[in-house]
Amino acid sequence: LLADELLRVAKGEVLSDDWSRQVYSVDASHYELTPAAIACPRDPHDVQEIMRYAYSKKLPVTGRGAGTGLLGQSLSNSGLVLDFSKHMGGLVELADDHVVVQPGMVKGVLDKELKKKNKFLPPDPASSNYCTIGGMIADNSSGVHCLGYGNTIDFIESLDLVYADGSAGHASTSACDDRMSAMKRLLGPRADIVKSGYPKVSKNSCGYRLDAVMGSTFQPHKVLAASEGTLALVTSATFKIQDLPEHRCLLVLGFEDVMHAVKAAPAVLQFAPVALELLDHTVFLHSGMAGKGSLLFVEFAGADAQAKMDLCRQKIAGLASVVEYASDEQSLVKIWSARKGALNNIMKLTVGSRKPIGLVEDTVVHPSMLGAHTENILAAYKEENLQYVLYGHVGDGNLHTRPIVDVSSESESEMIGRLAHRIFSQTIQKGGTITGEHGDGLARVGYIEMMYGKTVTDLFRQVKELFDPRYLLNPGKKVPIV
Ligand SMILES: Cc1cc2nc3c(=O)[nH]c(=O)nc-3n(C[C@H](O)[C@H](O)[C@H](O)COP(=O)(O)OP(=O)(O)OC[C@H]3O[C@@H](n4cnc5c(N)ncnc54)[C@H](O)[C@@H]3O)c2cc1C
Repeated sequence: LLADELLRVAKGEVLSDDWSRQVYSVDASHYELTPAAIACPRDPHDVQEIMRYAYSKKLPVTGRGAGTGLLGQSLSNSGLVLDFSKHMGGLVELADDHVVVQPGMVKGVLDKELKKKNKFLPPDPASSNYCTIGGMIADNSSGVHCLGYGNTIDFIESLDLVYADGSAGHASTSACDDRMSAMKRLLGPRADIVKSGYPKVSKNSCGYRLDAVMGSTFQPHKVLAASEGTLALVTSATFKIQDLPEHRCLLVLGFEDVMHAVKAAPAVLQFAPVALELLDHTVFLHSGMAGKGSLLFVEFAGADAQAKMDLCRQKIAGLASVVEYASDEQSLVKIWSARKGALNNIMKLTVGSRKPIGLVEDTVVHPSMLGAHTENILAAYKEENLQYVLYGHVGDGNLHTRPIVDVSSESESEMIGRLAHRIFSQTIQKGGTITGEHGDGLARVGYIEMMYGKTVTDLFRQVKELFDPRYLLNPGKKVPIV
């Protein structure tokens, strides 16, 4: 019945057979939730019609791009999944300083289009060959080069939206619809709470990014970044873009162990790299690389890239061995692919219900505190007798680490809860965030209050209810259902 009715209101296909519902019941997390049906809208009008129908029937709706979210963000328990990747993946406009895209466009496809014009949109998740722009906005995705250029939130200029009741919206610094104006009225008197309530880190995907909304100017569109489709659905996005750097150089430094590598990161940062990445030996083997110890991948960009790399090599000489360096495009792509494949390879460690589990996999602290933070995490793993993998965007203080546990075991699940509590408390005490780029999803929604405290999380609930009073958009994500 649901499929028949949806087919009457929208042009795109509707899937409700068991096979399709099974396919859409998983993403790149360990969760599994089965939706009632899947609709593939053809255009923004379809999205509006579907939302009007869903609103009238109180039917929950969850947007989906490629389903590469790591914490269950695109999964729906008996609701409707809207798959934007089928028909809404077009490039709308490519100008000198900005690009307009539909939400289902794959980032890697956009990268190729931009490269033809010598341009780029810097956020570059390792999943870029699959993940979509809509998913990147909703998770505030980052990647290797965000150290030098910024995260998805920093590049969004304006958004076309569809709200829970099916009405269309638009948000940018210069234009604000009624709902965004209402948000301004809500947040204005609470600007001090927002200003003091956020961690001082270079990337953050936890909760709603009200700090970015209430920056030096009111930037309403930024509330959608990291919102996991819980406030509105994005039907079109405008991003500012940049010229590709003329020169790039990459230096790979070898260290005897992970602590030496992590502790060297602040010294490397003095030379202003645009990327500073860690790959520990716990990941090497699964990436087809031999060896012990840890590596730092350091990229420099711009006219003085070579000079910066040479200086860095000289100064770091006593701390590390130079494993490799390159300044030609082909070598850079080849070397980076070892880092890019890290998570894909780690996923292959899964044997039945024993897997590298995502929960404490995305903490961020100031890079100067990363040494102490890493020591705390390794001590916790040792006490719990856990095998683990470890890598990350150490230039941003962002550590990706996963203990390997049996998710079917009650005692191991309890232990993971204990471990998360310990690691998150230590992260928050250091002024960090519990998630830099992967978002909260199902796994971390219960920890958002621990991160921000009651006053800010109450504000998140008020923002949610302003946009989606019936809790129909991706319920259970960002704001727990009470
Ligand atoms: C191997 C691997 C490597 C990864 N590497 C990185 C990395 O380096 N950096 C990084 O930041 N992340 C990384 N990720 C995480 C993930 O790829 C990103 O979060 C990605 O941006 C999600 O995009 P998606 O299209 O798959 O979105 P999905 O997983 O399908 O959805 C993510 C969220 O977006 C919402 N959404 C989708 N479309 C819309 C829309 N039109 N309007 C509103 N909401 C919408 C969904 O409801 C959901 O909440 C990696 C994941 C994998 C599997």
